[in-house]
Amino acid sequence: MKFVHNATDLPTKEEYDYIIIGGGTAGCPLATTLSSKFSVLLLERGSDPNKYPSVLNEQGLLNVFAAGDDGKNPFQRFVSEDGIENIRARVLGGGSMVNAGFYSRGHQEFFASAGVDWNMELVEKAYEWVEETVVSQPILNAWQSAFRSSLLEGGVIPDNGFDLRHLVGTKTGGSIFDNKGNRHGAVELLNKANPTNIKVATEATVQRILFSG
Ligand SMILES: Cc1cc2nc3c(=O)[nH]c(=O)nc-3n(C[C@H](O)[C@H](O)[C@H](O)COP(=O)(O)OP(=O)(O)OC[C@H]3O[C@@H](n4cnc5c(N)ncnc54)[C@H](O)[C@@H]3O)c2cc1C
Repeated sequence: MKFVHNATDLPTKEEYDYIIIGGGTAGCPLATTLSSKFSVLLLERGSDPNKYPSVLNEQGLLNVFAAGDDGKNPFQRFVSEDGIENIRARVLGGGSMVNAGFYSRGHQEFFASAGVDWNMELVEKAYEWVEETVVSQPILNAWQSAFRSSLLEGGVIPDNGFDLRHLVGTKTGGSIFDNKGNRHGAVELLNKANPTNIKVATEATVQRILFSG
C-alpha cells in the first residue's frame, strides 16, 4: 500500500478532515470507510506487520505468548491495575495481527441493548464487507472435530454447522486464518481505501492532542 509511510517521511504540518489514532482492528476499517468521502490520516505507533513475519501466519501465534517486549515488537506486555499480566498489540492492524483469529458476528442482544438505533441492513452489509476480505471457514483438525462432537454429545445443541452468527448451541465459527494458515488482519481492509484520500503513518506514537478554539 503506497499510502503507508513511516511517520518521519510525512510533512510536519498538514490538514485532514479526520485523524484517527490507532491503526488497529477498529481504526483500519474506520479510516478506510471515511476515505471514501473525506481526507484521512491514520496514526499507528507500531510498524508495518510485514516487518514481523511471525504475525502473518498461524505458526507465529505462539510468539505472542513467548516473545519478550523490546519496546518495538508487535506485542506490548503490560500488567493490569489488578495485577493480571497481559499483552496488547503494537503493530499496524492492531489486535487482529496478534490474536487467536476467532471471528463471530455480535450477539443479537448486544444490538438490542446498546442504546443505538441501528440500521440492521447497514450492519449486515458492514459484516459482509469485513468478512469477504478477512474471514475463512476453517477446516477442523482431528482434535477440533472431536471437541465439536463431544459438545453435541454432551447436549450443547442445536448443531448450527458453520455459521458466522453468534448462536446458542454448537457451531464452527469463522477464522481470520485461511486454510494455508495465513493471517488476514484488519490491515487488509486498508486495501479498500480510496488511496488519494488516505495516509497511514507507522511508528507514529501520539503523545498529546491539543484542542483550540
Ligand atoms: C492474545 C489475544 C488473543 C485474542 N483473541 C481474539 C480472538 O480470537 N477473537 C477476537 O474476536 N478477539 C480476540 N482478541 C481481542 C481482539 O484482538 C481485540 O478486542 C481487538 O483487536 C481490539 O480492537 P481495537 O481496535 O479496539 O484495538 P487494537 O486492535 O488493539 O488497536 C489499537 C491500536 O492503537 C495503537 N495505539 C495505541 N496507543 C497509541 C498511541 N498513543 N498512538 C498511536 N497508536 C496507538 C496500537 O498500537 C494498536 O495498533 C484477542 C486479544 C489478545 C490480546
